[in-house]
Amino acid sequence: MRHLLLCTDLDRTLIPNGRAPESPQARRLFAKLAACPQVTLAYVTGRHQALIQQAMLDYDLPTPAFAIADVGASLYQVRGCQWQRWTAWDDHIAPDWGGTSHTELRQLLSGISALTLQEPHKQARHKLSFYAPMQTEPQALLAQIEPILRRHGVRANLIWSLDEATQQGLLDILPARANKLHAIAFLMAAQGFERDATVFVGDSGNDLEVLQSDLPAVLVANADADIKSRVANVSPDRLYLARGDFLGMNGNYSAGILEGVAHHHPDIADWLHQQR
Ligand SMILES: [Mg+2]
Repeated sequence: MRHLLLCTDLDRTLIPNGRAPESPQARRLFAKLAACPQVTLAYVTGRHQALIQQAMLDYDLPTPAFAIADVGASLYQVRGCQWQRWTAWDDHIAPDWGGTSHTELRQLLSGISALTLQEPHKQARHKLSFYAPMQTEPQALLAQIEPILRRHGVRANLIWSLDEATQQGLLDILPARANKLHAIAFLMAAQGFERDATVFVGDSGNDLEVLQSDLPAVLVANADADIKSRVANVSPDRLYLARGDFLGMNGNYSAGILEGVAHHHPDIADWLHQQR
């Protein structure tokens, strides 16, 4: 088996917390693959560190070598239970905020009445997170924020999303280069992984940029129809759409990860077949 950097999203990609069923044994087989010395596992997620660790406990997930957390705003090297923040990544993205700190950025936006600061544990050094009313028109909100950022030399990645469960709008403000794709590229360069030795797996909106990039990628079968249609024009050489029927599994969650890795890496497909 050749060396592989296996980068995977968590919620509804590795973690089976969507409506679709999970194939029994798929996560166990995923853990077995992740335990191979040739495989370097990286979690790439919107979750912060404590929520990643909680998911690892709740779902019995393997310990990764790296974690790209907060949608790319934080990068960690993981050794056993030691999580070390990779400050070289912070140094890499900090210039995008032009020297403005988290606190200063919060103060700059304090006049925008639609924004309510999220709890301290949802903030990170390079992630400023607000709540906004569900009915907020995101374009209008961004039109209010962008001139303020521009005036202060802040180049930001603004991520608007909806939390259906709590009926709230969520706005994350990150340095412009703090996103999943850039963080993966940084990790690849730092660890010497070529493009062909890397696979990314995802399921939803904040994975799109990576799914549409030139990295070998996989979309799990349980992804929404909307995401499937948005990646329909990506070359099948780059992006594999899991559909099930690999080792009798359904292609959802970790079964989709295994199916996609097997597609991109026939030597791993052989290895997986031998594990059954
Ligand atoms: Mg996801």
